[in-house]
Amino acid sequence: MSRVFDQDLERRFGTRAVHAGQTLDPLAGAVMSPIYQTSTYVQEALGRHKGYEYARTQNPTREALERCVAALEGGRYGFAFGSGLAALDAILKLCSAGDHVVCGENVYGGTHRAMTQIWTRMGLTFTFVDTGEADEIRRALTPKTRMVYVETPTNPMMRLTDLAAAGEIARKAGALFAVDNTFASPLFQQPLTFGADLVLHSTTKFLNGHSDMIGGILVTGRDDLAERIGFLQNSSGAVPGPMDCWLALRGIKTFPLRMRQHDANGRRIAEWLTAHPKVKKVYYPGLPSHPQHELARRQMSGFGSMLSLELGDVARARQFAQSTRIFALAESLGGVESLIGHPASMTHASVPAALRQKMGLTDSLVRLSVGIEDADDLIADLDQALAAA
Ligand SMILES: *Cc1c(COP(=O)(O)O)cnc(C)c1O
Repeated sequence: MSRVFDQDLERRFGTRAVHAGQTLDPLAGAVMSPIYQTSTYVQEALGRHKGYEYARTQNPTREALERCVAALEGGRYGFAFGSGLAALDAILKLCSAGDHVVCGENVYGGTHRAMTQIWTRMGLTFTFVDTGEADEIRRALTPKTRMVYVETPTNPMMRLTDLAAAGEIARKAGALFAVDNTFASPLFQQPLTFGADLVLHSTTKFLNGHSDMIGGILVTGRDDLAERIGFLQNSSGAVPGPMDCWLALRGIKTFPLRMRQHDANGRRIAEWLTAHPKVKKVYYPGLPSHPQHELARRQMSGFGSMLSLELGDVARARQFAQSTRIFALAESLGGVESLIGHPASMTHASVPAALRQKMGLTDSLVRLSVGIEDADDLIADLDQALAAA
């Protein structure tokens, strides 16, 4: 667990991305945070040390990352984990057997799987609703509701949740409000400013942005939660190694620049796809045709580069997903390189078919993670793949 440096919160976003949380290397003055690849630290005498005893509990490279992301989210405390799902694990350990969680029905497939196949066995209960409808959240509350957990925009339907409304409902119910902000990223959306108690990221995605590590992070502004999550992080021990923390720190230095290019490419490609005769529907919050476009403009300052398209025909969708040359057929998202995926058989295969159908996640839906390549090349690639489909 690490607490942000107050002076970092006085600086603007681009400066935070490069500098926040990082201290001058006392040995050589290295400009980059050193990778403290060690499991333990020498103590000067019994009970006397530099604040570092054992690397599951404290590691300077990890602390730099935790402070940096906490500053980007405008929070006060950061906690890094070995993956996004390890961070989710820590969030759910804030609950006890018998507690109830209201969760978005279209959350990340692995989140849904952990909740329904692990945590229900441990005595938690879940109600999955379309958190895009505030009334559905309200109706799902029970006297045992301990947490409201949402993702916005969702993957891959790009459905939004009104963060201010959901936060208000959670607060009135005495429940924690947790937001997975992986898709929007802290450049475009800061859930803590809308009343979230906790923000989760898979740093694997946009924050690191280079598809070369797996990691997760939690941020909170609350002292009481920080103490409990710090305890969980150390006691459960799902911490990331220093090399991966360093890679994430390096990725974050260019995060705002990359994100602006992702956003520009995402908008252009969403518009281009909308006009294509073979494309039935495009799901992208930046399009005026998106049913929650007004909400997107209200709570997001950019729309990113995740989008899905409906081709209306399963064979065509599968053919399209396998015909691109620049877009690589792969799971994951948020890297500099463009990826294409077929959610029903890839990322969302673990979501029950009935739930997929309810959300509109058809077998003919294709998801794109638009990278930062030249948009003209990306459009030419999609054009030839659609022609082949
Ligand atoms: C990838 C992802 C996760 C899980 O993160 P891992 O780092 O793969 O464990 C959680 N939420 C969202 C929205 C994701 O995209």
